[in-house]
Amino acid sequence: MSTKRDFYEILGVGKTASADEIKKAYRKVAMQYHPDRNPGDKAAEEKFKEAAEAYEVLSDADKRTQYDRYGHAGLSGAGRGFGGGGNMNMDDIFSQFGDIFGDDIFGSFFGGQGGRGRGGQRPRGIRGSNLRVKLKLTFEEIAKGVTKSIKVKKYVTCTTCSGSGAKDKGSVQTCSTCSGSGQVRKVTNTFLGQMQTVTTCPTCNGEGTTITAKCGSCKGEGRVYGEETVTIDIPAGVQEGMQLNVTGRGNAGERGGPSGDLIVLIEEEAHAQLQRDGLNVAFDLYITFPDAVFGTQVEVPTIDGRAKIKIPAGTQSGKIFRLKGKGFPAVNSYEKGDQLIHVNVWTPQHLSQEEKAMMEKLQASNNFKPNPDKNERSFFDKVREIFS
Ligand SMILES: [Zn+2]
Ligand SMILES: [Zn+2]
Repeated sequence: MSTKRDFYEILGVGKTASADEIKKAYRKVAMQYHPDRNPGDKAAEEKFKEAAEAYEVLSDADKRTQYDRYGHAGLSGAGRGFGGGGNMNMDDIFSQFGDIFGDDIFGSFFGGQGGRGRGGQRPRGIRGSNLRVKLKLTFEEIAKGVTKSIKVKKYVTCTTCSGSGAKDKGSVQTCSTCSGSGQVRKVTNTFLGQMQTVTTCPTCNGEGTTITAKCGSCKGEGRVYGEETVTIDIPAGVQEGMQLNVTGRGNAGERGGPSGDLIVLIEEEAHAQLQRDGLNVAFDLYITFPDAVFGTQVEVPTIDGRAKIKIPAGTQSGKIFRLKGKGFPAVNSYEKGDQLIHVNVWTPQHLSQEEKAMMEKLQASNNFKPNPDKNERSFFDKVREIFS
């Protein structure tokens, strides 16, 4: 993963490049390394794939944000649900061209092979939109990673017509305009000479078929509004505001078109006693004055159940104990945080006459006078202190 080149560098644009600049840059690089122009050149093919991958990420606002924040690691997430490139094959890349360059001259420059027609697969229907859901997770779930099944209200494929939108098989007919090819050809004059341009058939939108009678359940759309249970694997260590991309689990497409993605926005549920500080967990421990003097053993909550800790005799208020490795794991490394226990010695606020009399006696004792230089280390030393 570390050998991967920076996506901006691959396309030769700055980090602040606009969507349009990125598109133009990609077009330039893709033209240069296009396999039809560099037959048998493996290096060119790699560069071509690399550029397509960079473009796939930088052209998607969500993925680009993720890449800017977490780099390549944020996109691959150890293969656990984060979207992003990396596994694009040539067919993916060529189908991407259709979306980027439409049916302009680029598609037909290479004998029409660069366009949508490559691979013999005709686009069907219209892609469904992406769907965003928020997912609240407890500290415990974040610490270990969790598999969640959530019900998502969304467009699902119509079961009556299996997404075709047609009433029955007989009501699907080959498009008469394009004879089923989904494309119409015309000859245009360009600065490069006369060229054959291939465009999407306007009658069937490239699908090659038309529907004479619509499915009654979905009124021809091929999808209905419904609900689906989606199971999502959440890696350990995610944080508030992170996004996970579940490919193909967004809204179903129209008339058999591909589904959009489900984008899961992570939210942290506040913990009753613990607080998160990056990878560390903070806990405020209150002990009585006598316990601070004599020492004691207490149980503290952690994100991994309860833990016993020993409070030595003479513990000062403000002392920090550290439970090593009891914090959150990092989402993309083996790093783990600690739990920091901040000791607060509770000062009583209401005393009986008898207690007051005892305190007055103690007040006079020299042993109760603060003497920090002798026993206390600095705050920074305390932060470094390790309790095991
Ligand atoms: Zn239907
Ligand atoms: Zn047609």
